[in-house]
Amino acid sequence: MIRINGLHKSFGDNHVLQGINLEVRQGEVVVILGPSGSGKSTLLRCINYLETFERGEIRIEGRPIGRTSVNGRSVEMPQKELNRMRQDVGMVFQSFNLFPHKTVIENITMAPITLRGMTREEANHLAMDLLQKVGLAEKAYARPSNLSGGQKQRVAIARALAMKPKVMLFDEPTSALDPETVGEVLQVMRQLAKEGMTMVVVTHEMGFARDVADRIVVMDKGVIIEEGTPETIFREPSHPRTKIFLHQVLERAE
Ligand code: ADP
Ligand code: MG
Repeated sequence: MIRINGLHKSFGDNHVLQGINLEVRQGEVVVILGPSGSGKSTLLRCINYLETFERGEIRIEGRPIGRTSVNGRSVEMPQKELNRMRQDVGMVFQSFNLFPHKTVIENITMAPITLRGMTREEANHLAMDLLQKVGLAEKAYARPSNLSGGQKQRVAIARALAMKPKVMLFDEPTSALDPETVGEVLQVMRQLAKEGMTMVVVTHEMGFARDVADRIVVMDKGVIIEEGTPETIFREPSHPRTKIFLHQVLERAE
């Protein structure tokens, strides 16, 4: 579903991604772990081309993301193609990014109407189904400011799903939440995983990583230092920096 080859990305002379290779199969849940500043967010943002990159290639279902090869030269895709390709990749951020002046249902229906050409009626129908799914049908006409953090994040997930993406990317979706609302968001993500959604999740929720991930990828300083099943990564990590990282995270959680 996702194939990343030799991905390099710099901000000025800060070489943030130093040759990332990663493949994600359809229906697989990959959790990315790693210390702050290791390039996790940048990697996710490259996957839906919110960030450009200098070298390497990303493909979703075989189709290149952001850049294509024309006569052997790598060039940026036309804007129209970029927009189409982005619809395949849903993203959920730490800060929900909902439109504050729109109702919950308007937040969800806007993109399907403007980008997918749905009628308002179709979009409303879809939005209500998705709100049902994330347990917020009764909040359809509320404003984001009247929702808890966990509720906002569930709306953000519904909004991403409304575009019927092939892949969902989550960048620390529960890090900004009050502890009592973390569980409800993780529950929605667990359900999505069970339904077979292909997911790449950056999180420090080790319980989620252990129970839901098919594979864990550990990043440090712009490279993948280790990957494996949760079993292997938690029980016998092979890289010393993975051990240090896990130790720190688990200590913080206690
Ligand atoms: P992580 O998500 O693992 O904490 P990031 O991908 O956010 O790491 O950041 C990796 C590195 O890239 C850091 O050194 C950060 O300062 C830098 N960085 C991230 N975004 C930008 C940006 N928009 N401009 C300049 N530097 C950035
Ligand atoms: Mg980050």
